[in-house]
Amino acid sequence: MPEGGTPHSVVIGAGIVGACTALALLREGHRVTILEPGPPGGEQAASYGNGCWLSPMSVIPPAVPGLWRKVPGFLADPLGPLAIRWSYLPRVLPWLARYLLSGWTEARVARTAVALRALLRDAPALHADLAEAAGVGGLIERRGLMYVYPDRAAFEAEAMSWRIRRQVGIDWIELSAEELHQREPALDRRYGFAALVEEGGHCRDPGAYVAALVALAEAEGARRVAAPATGFRIEGGRLRAVRTDAGEIAADRAVISAGARSKALAAAAGDRLPLETERGYHAMIADPGTGPRTPLMPSDGKMSITWTDRGLRCAGQVEIAGLDAAPNWQRADILRDHLMRSFPALPRDLPAERVRVWMGHRPSTPDGLPCIGPARATPDIVHAFGHGHVGLVAGPRTGRLVAQLLAGRPPELDPRPYDPRRFG
Ligand SMILES: Cc1cc2nc3c(=O)[nH]c(=O)nc-3n(C[C@H](O)[C@H](O)[C@H](O)COP(=O)(O)OP(=O)(O)OC[C@H]3O[C@@H](n4cnc5c(N)ncnc54)[C@H](O)[C@@H]3O)c2cc1C
Repeated sequence: MPEGGTPHSVVIGAGIVGACTALALLREGHRVTILEPGPPGGEQAASYGNGCWLSPMSVIPPAVPGLWRKVPGFLADPLGPLAIRWSYLPRVLPWLARYLLSGWTEARVARTAVALRALLRDAPALHADLAEAAGVGGLIERRGLMYVYPDRAAFEAEAMSWRIRRQVGIDWIELSAEELHQREPALDRRYGFAALVEEGGHCRDPGAYVAALVALAEAEGARRVAAPATGFRIEGGRLRAVRTDAGEIAADRAVISAGARSKALAAAAGDRLPLETERGYHAMIADPGTGPRTPLMPSDGKMSITWTDRGLRCAGQVEIAGLDAAPNWQRADILRDHLMRSFPALPRDLPAERVRVWMGHRPSTPDGLPCIGPARATPDIVHAFGHGHVGLVAGPRTGRLVAQLLAGRPPELDPRPYDPRRFG
């Protein structure tokens, strides 16, 4: 980069993380190229099909104390809410061991929660600002998010999670059966208790939102190249170019934000990082006619139910089976059936064209925290992936943090908990 010149940054991958990072870099004065082989916000990205939740309270990592006792069940039941394919077990064992250890004690979970809270705080407001700037302000709604339970005892069975949420500054309103059904008249009567988190929000169409953010970045001067990154040319500890399957792109800086497909690129930048895919599914009913007023998550299904501009979406499930195995659509059927049971007035015998299903890849580290920080081979490359279950909500602050790190400015939050070097 010429002394005092404008740095050229290549952002690899245009899911929510890459889109937010590209915008933050433009605002930092960088020249930006976005490398994305697919349509931005398209079905190939986790950012397309997720649960739409902008949930600053999603601070509890997936692994919690005692989870190890359930591992035999994860292997035995291929259709359980968390399933591990036998054939993939040998490959995933080291990741799985770290995953279980990271949530071994309440103190460890609480430490992760503090780090996640710093990344997620105020996220709905940050999303609202970005969406407004992109001309799609209506896609972000801030009317709270709700966890629903059969009864108070079921809520109290999750006491540790709620205790930790309270410790990191999250508030909620507890609703009795009567209050819940006044708010949600269409919800099945088997639910009799809820915790409403008013600071939560949701996105009415994450795919369209990401596409709008990328379009905004292009309008602000970013160039988009439809090719996959394959590696880097690094000389004397400085980045010279990003390699793609359509040739090299000269670059001063690069950001690896290719979601679950970031692992090989991280290795090309000198880091062997434990990134896995936690595959998830959605089922969506077009023109459902009924549903929740506030997005909600029934405790017995562990899936989110949210109105979107494309229909009523039910998203969830965790399947550990790698990037390449074919989807198991029975899992999406389970989501659809649970949705039907949660809202009994939903139409039965729906024609196939009114039910859409999708499978995507959560980019997951074993400790439930993303990798955000410089690569070993050169500080010109910054990792920005591994957001697991919270990548949508975490996008804006991740983008800002990456831009601040690349600009050498004091970051707005302590980046150490996300430092990829924590994995040795
Ligand atoms: C079922 C489900 C429900 C979820 N619910 C929520 C939720 O409610 N709230 C929430 O916050 N999070 C949720 N998540 C998680 C969230 O969707 C992800 O963490 C987030 O979308 C990850 O964003 P990303 O930009 O890192 O990756 P992605 O969105 O996957 O984007 C990565 C992009 O990189 C591109 N790419 C891949 N390889 C290359 C390459 N070599 N070169 C260039 N580009 C490349 C891909 O084409 C893709 O477009 C959910 C996930 C799933 C699966």
